[in-house]
Amino acid sequence: MDDELVILGSGGGRHHIRTQYRATGGILFKFKENQAHIDPGPGAIVRINQYNEDPTKTNLFIVTHMHIDHFNDLCAIIEASREQLHDRNYNYFKKGTLITTEEVLDFVPKYHQNMLETIVLFKSGDTYNFEGTKIIGTKVIHSQIEGFGVIFKLDNYSIAFTSDTKVFEGFSEQISGVDILVLNLLRPDSITCRRHVCTDEVIPYLNKITPQLKGLLITHFGSYMDSSFSPTNYVPSQLAKLRDETNIKTIIAAEDGSKIKISNFL
Ligand SMILES: [Zn+2]
Ligand SMILES: [Zn+2]
Repeated sequence: MDDELVILGSGGGRHHIRTQYRATGGILFKFKENQAHIDPGPGAIVRINQYNEDPTKTNLFIVTHMHIDHFNDLCAIIEASREQLHDRNYNYFKKGTLITTEEVLDFVPKYHQNMLETIVLFKSGDTYNFEGTKIIGTKVIHSQIEGFGVIFKLDNYSIAFTSDTKVFEGFSEQISGVDILVLNLLRPDSITCRRHVCTDEVIPYLNKITPQLKGLLITHFGSYMDSSFSPTNYVPSQLAKLRDETNIKTIIAAEDGSKIKISNFL
């Protein structure tokens, strides 16, 4: 099976939670016979079925921080990751690994925690070996709560997911050596935000990553980017700007339900 990303939601933030104008189900990352569900926000369980994906294949759950657009459907996704919950004697089957923060875990009932094989409390700088794949926690500057991004080091490529963050001193350096970046880009052009990046802010940081990224996927678009009250859908113009102002070979914008082979980026 080719490694692949499935976009269960290209939206982020409160407006999309409420309206589902863009879905908020997070991303499936399929790699080496594994299926990771990263940030299963509201509707994740609906989208995984709508886009003909199989929730029982998920064996890695990652919630990067305790915001509802990243966390909401986690328990449903854990239950949906197995066809049977327990045997005849109500012994619950254990399956899967959850990587998340302590704050998130406080909101996961013991009932669901006990369905998991492994729970890994994670923060920036931590590493974890999952089925032979090294996963590294990256720094975020986002809100008061704990959070992290992740880098997956595969045999023939590496991919980073920024999660929600601002840019900061060291943002580019921590991604150096990564081939593909999945960037949460909430806002277009120079519409700044205290908690997120906009296109104009992030471009210089993308250009500072060495060696140059091979691929970039932009996602987690907020309501300023595209919604019923934004003057236009800014995603195409941001894609054009990023292609124009960086040397990244392949840049793709996420759309709800899109399935993107990793080989497209390499
Ligand atoms: Zn978010
Ligand atoms: Zn957030």
